[in-house]
Amino acid sequence: MNNFTTKYQSYNLKNFTKIPAVEKYFSKADIDAVRVVGSVLPFKVNNYVTEQLIDWDNIPEDPMFQLTFPQKEMLTETDFRLMENAINNNVDKAEQILLANKIRFSLNPHPDGQKNNIPRLNRKKLQGIQHKYNETVLFFPSNSQTCHAYCTFCFRWPQFTGISNLKFSMKEVGLLVDYLETHGEVTDLLFTGGDPMIMSAEKLSQYIEPVINSKKHNVSTIRIGTKSLGYWPYRYLSDKDSDDILRLFEKVVKKGFHLAFMAHVNHPRELETKAVQKAIKRILNTGALIRTQSPVMKHINNNPGVWQTMWKQQVKLGMIPYYMFMARDTGAQDYFAVTLNDAWEIFTEAYKNVSGIARTVKGPVMSADPGKVHILGVNKINGEKVFSLRFVQARETKHVNTPFFARYNHDAIWLDDLKPWKSNKFFFE
Ligand SMILES: *Cc1c(COP(=O)(O)O)cnc(C)c1O
Ligand code: SF4
Repeated sequence: MNNFTTKYQSYNLKNFTKIPAVEKYFSKADIDAVRVVGSVLPFKVNNYVTEQLIDWDNIPEDPMFQLTFPQKEMLTETDFRLMENAINNNVDKAEQILLANKIRFSLNPHPDGQKNNIPRLNRKKLQGIQHKYNETVLFFPSNSQTCHAYCTFCFRWPQFTGISNLKFSMKEVGLLVDYLETHGEVTDLLFTGGDPMIMSAEKLSQYIEPVINSKKHNVSTIRIGTKSLGYWPYRYLSDKDSDDILRLFEKVVKKGFHLAFMAHVNHPRELETKAVQKAIKRILNTGALIRTQSPVMKHINNNPGVWQTMWKQQVKLGMIPYYMFMARDTGAQDYFAVTLNDAWEIFTEAYKNVSGIARTVKGPVMSADPGKVHILGVNKINGEKVFSLRFVQARETKHVNTPFFARYNHDAIWLDDLKPWKSNKFFFE
């Protein structure tokens, strides 16, 4: 689109009917569905997504539409009706919120004991840090608890609806640096959110500078997990502090750190615009590397052709494919879920058709409570089908890379659905 304005225009439940394409393409029932589902799951989109990524002639199937717009089937029929009635009958706002929260709590808002990874320093709980795997610390800056748009599959959705009270956020970067200095095993620091790239250059440097200026820790890689390339590439092109952001990246690299820009890319469409391609170049020019990851999901990318195209395009643009994940067991997971077997088939078919350079990707991987479990494939042992698995990451380091088997279950979508093979316990239990 040539006449696209790079002025950021954000839309949510209150104003989405003003999106020109919504006015043109939506029926009354479509609007109703967004209102109802968007009252339970977070909804936010912007003019770049609506004008340059969504193919409106192809809704509702369009993958970028599915990725950002709430769909009726994301709630059960009963929950949908309940919420719809509450809205249409104009019941009290407070009561609507109670109902929305009741539905939210039935959607497994805190999967996999994520709250069990909060570390302590001198007995003080560090709410903004997660330290699950020996060498990597996750940091949730309090100023990054939102995104340029919200993904309908997001597993961090409770943070955006208010039911999670930003439990993970921490203001004091000083505590983070203290923590890193007393944990010599940590080599990787991962900034996450929300999306850290929602922050101004000034805010982001307030978090990063103390880390790169301390010599008393062993961090050598700084990762930034972000969806900004897909949802707002102008962050690196024309926002008023774009150049400052790039200068900050350069500074991190000059100081001798590996700066890993972890780009969340769910569909090849996100890599097609001129804006995103230019943004990628500018980021790479700072000396940062871009690695990519995405869950595999029905309605968005459950097809090997999509993955093959995506990985090839990523390599061509200078990015490094990193992870294919299984969608987590939370929120609208029923809507997106792909079985372990299907995910493995999709992965394998795509993997076969790319060169070794793109085979840096690992997957499909489940981020489960005991660790990141890699589905290596389906084997037959004496005529009996089994899943071959291994840990790429484990709460207990000694379990990393140990292969193990599970009984084949055609419908399994998560580790919980698997039973050990010829044993009553998995080796890690
Ligand atoms: C994925 C993940 C990491 C990073 O793991 P790598 O395999 O090093 O990319 C760290 N902490 C948590 C909680 C994770 O889920
Ligand atoms: S960008 Fe990431 S954190 Fe934000 S809504 Fe999407 S998946 Fe969730």
